[in-house]
Amino acid sequence: MHKTLLISINAFCASILWAQAPSPPSPQTKLSVHWDELTAADFKDAIARAQGTCLLPFGILEKHGAHLPLGNDLLNVRYAALNAAQQEYAIVFPEYYFGQIFEAKHQPGTVAYSRRLQLDLLQETTDEMARNGCKKIIIVNGHGGNNSLLPFFAQTQLDTPHDYVVYVLGITRGGPGEPKHKSNPATDMHAGESETSMSMIARPDLVHLDRAPQESGADQARLKLPDGLYTGIWWYARFPNHYAGEGAVASRELGEFEAKTWINGITQAIRAVKADQESLRLQNEFYERSKHPLDTPQ
Ligand SMILES: [Zn+2]
Repeated sequence: MHKTLLISINAFCASILWAQAPSPPSPQTKLSVHWDELTAADFKDAIARAQGTCLLPFGILEKHGAHLPLGNDLLNVRYAALNAAQQEYAIVFPEYYFGQIFEAKHQPGTVAYSRRLQLDLLQETTDEMARNGCKKIIIVNGHGGNNSLLPFFAQTQLDTPHDYVVYVLGITRGGPGEPKHKSNPATDMHAGESETSMSMIARPDLVHLDRAPQESGADQARLKLPDGLYTGIWWYARFPNHYAGEGAVASRELGEFEAKTWINGITQAIRAVKADQESLRLQNEFYERSKHPLDTPQ
């Protein structure tokens, strides 16, 4: 009797567990926006649906104050890019974190590839994307340290003919209507209020807000040079902790605004790129003329 009861209780518990166990994902019926989740045959359909438009979310591995993860920029930019691609279909390339970050080499966990490798890998990546039908590639930047690298890369596409166009989209979060900031916007640059708020939306499980005050994100202003005179050590001179701003005052309210504006900015860019028929035409005209500059009318 007792044993029978136990068995039936066990069976009852097992049925509850069975009911609660997550079921494995069933095969997708709609096209994924993730390049790496598509089958080869679905990839062909995806290229057609995207009209050859693909996103390359571009992040980095670097310290983000005392409170955010090393992959913060890539996690955030992928969150925004994947959401945008679902609104306006585009194929999103897998995790890419091979950008410019020499200025954080003194901090744990930073991965800083050489200058040559950064450019070669990016060129081969966009070449391979284009060979697979991505004739319009939007590099969606998520890391301020790439702000010089990416326009330079795009400019060098004029060096030799390419049958595709590279577009670079800066970090489009924020703007008019933004909730009032609690910290100084002038130094809210890295792991500060805005970025931490965005992370609270993209990956709240990785934000250690209580640790944010452990270090100072204040501008130490250790280098005095006239405006317009640039040197590479400028960032370290100002923010040697690789932290700029006040992450501790971040909020979900600001984060929701940052996420919404960023996703919207990327969605608008995808639409504009799909509609753009001029860039490739002008590139081809330019490449042709470059072969014989003396024939260009003067
Ligand atoms: Zn960042």
